[in-house]
Amino acid sequence: MTLQDFQVCDRDLSEAALGEYLQSETIAVDTETMGLLPQRDRLCLVQLCNPDGKVTAIRIAKGQTDSPNLKQLLEAKNVLKIFHFARFDIATLRYYLGIYTQPIFCTKIASKLARTYTNRHGLKDVVQELEQVELDKSSQSSDWGNAANLTEAQLSYAANDVRYLISVQQKLSEMLKREERWQLAQECFQVLPTIVSLDLLQFKDLFEH
Ligand code: MN
Repeated sequence: MTLQDFQVCDRDLSEAALGEYLQSETIAVDTETMGLLPQRDRLCLVQLCNPDGKVTAIRIAKGQTDSPNLKQLLEAKNVLKIFHFARFDIATLRYYLGIYTQPIFCTKIASKLARTYTNRHGLKDVVQELEQVELDKSSQSSDWGNAANLTEAQLSYAANDVRYLISVQQKLSEMLKREERWQLAQECFQVLPTIVSLDLLQFKDLFEH
């Protein structure tokens, strides 16, 4: 892939980039971390993509506790934030940077509600079917902690994880409306911050008998 229209920055978005992303109705967001447990595995990278395909990767330093411009963008009420498996990303963004992301669209939830003919809802599978693009996930499990020395393969992977999300979101939205599950999807997205609060307190089966 080309690294055109792809910028890497440290700690936070520039004022100029914030201004540009705030103009978008939707942005795609992804994170890379040291692992799957937010309380244990620190946040290393936050990637953003707008509908014009402008990708930014923000390197989060070890011990960093805020990122004010990123917070302003992710909490902006008029910019829809699209994630694949938002439950994880919004937990780590809240835990490390105090960001309460909203409003949210999760392409994994949308896929499960709309694509009931398959049980393949990973980003790679969804992008393959809806975009006819083969994502290279070989950097998925790699050392994101050495942020100053990320390889070209890692940066290319990180950018591709957000590059197709807006188009995927549009296609899944059409399917949800066609199948009359749009409203149910919105209700699922609205409850995500509460689920994340429970996750961060390690309540695992609050709704079980
Ligand atoms: Mn990713």
